[in-house]
Amino acid sequence: MLGEALRGQFPALNQEIGGHPLVYLDNGATTLKPDCVIESITSVYARDCANVHRGVHTLSQRATQRQEEARVTAQRFLNAPEARECIFVRGTTEGINLVANTWGRANLGPGDEVLITAMEHHSNIVPWQMVCKATGATLQVADIDDDGALVMDDYRAKLSSKTKMVSAIHVSNALGTVNPVEEMIRLAHDAGALVLLDGAQSAPHQPVDVQALDVDFFVFSGHKVYGPTGVGILYGRESLLDAMPPWEGGGDMIRTVTFEETTYAGLPSKFEAGTPNIAGAIGLGTAMEFLMGLDLAKVAEHEADLLRYATERLDSIDGLRRIGTAEDRAGLVGFVLDWAHPHDVGTILDHEGIAIRAGHHCAQPVMDRFQVPATARASFGVYNTREDIDRLVSALHSVKEIFAP
Ligand code: PLP
Repeated sequence: MLGEALRGQFPALNQEIGGHPLVYLDNGATTLKPDCVIESITSVYARDCANVHRGVHTLSQRATQRQEEARVTAQRFLNAPEARECIFVRGTTEGINLVANTWGRANLGPGDEVLITAMEHHSNIVPWQMVCKATGATLQVADIDDDGALVMDDYRAKLSSKTKMVSAIHVSNALGTVNPVEEMIRLAHDAGALVLLDGAQSAPHQPVDVQALDVDFFVFSGHKVYGPTGVGILYGRESLLDAMPPWEGGGDMIRTVTFEETTYAGLPSKFEAGTPNIAGAIGLGTAMEFLMGLDLAKVAEHEADLLRYATERLDSIDGLRRIGTAEDRAGLVGFVLDWAHPHDVGTILDHEGIAIRAGHHCAQPVMDRFQVPATARASFGVYNTREDIDRLVSALHSVKEIFAP
């Protein structure tokens, strides 16, 4: 039920670009949405349009019930012990900023260290840089090797009793590297550090079990798991979330308010000030059900096959160099061409109806490490097929004809 069999459920695939049927290979940036997710969002506005948690009337109760069902779906999606440990946020970026600004400001100080890796997305660099600056803590970075794999000796060497938090990407959006997170978490815990995983590129592609991982925080974005934009999940261990100060102040996150003092609500409301993205949360719930219905182990297998096939076919193109050649990779392939800039490649492929991404992928330190200004990236999703990769490879040959000397 993956690949070709799914395409009919994704209306955006049913269009031509420049006279060619669309091949969508930009899933790392965002995924297309299936009918069930679109209908789920539409039905909120068409039928259950009300604010949550505040109304005694039927529409508000329906909206509240549907949003809270989506939270329970998130709990199942991540195998979290409790639904209240799943906080609705705007996406991965907000989830990391929430932890950095609440846990970080309360727990970091001079002499403390936060350890990240050299393959992070900007959203897992900048918030920690900002909070380190504010608290006097130090940001440490574990190296990657020429294949784009984490150098475990360096990771071990940079972990110490000073390390209070390891915040690491699970699957790299620029390199495709799958990090050895089980071992990283075990080592971090042995050193007394907490671990946050940026799951933006893992949650869409493989089953995630926060209990089996024994991870303290896990974040992902709805729009990369076939759900809507503007919503995502932050999972946190209840004991940690309970001890953290709130994030934003406002409605819904309080128990009592006077001008002298405010007491805060329990989880998850404490971290969800103001009217949430109700339709987004409900749409995300439907997207997670959709993915679980496909079986994430099968999704991982399907995309591993596409990755193997793409790697083999791209390696047959003279002058193409893949960036990100670690043994354990998932979901995407990044490359540069001797004879054309990635942006030109992206533009010409678009004329052929093929959507890929070209740029630094919000990972400028990765581009610096590989001494390239940008890469072209083809990233896979549940509806992609080997034929999509054939179209990509054949279009790259046309690019070569235009640019190669
Ligand atoms: N982390 C990784 C690995 C990503 O790939 C992305 C998005 O590309 C993000 C974080 C940021 O996600 P969002 O923009 O949805 O907050």
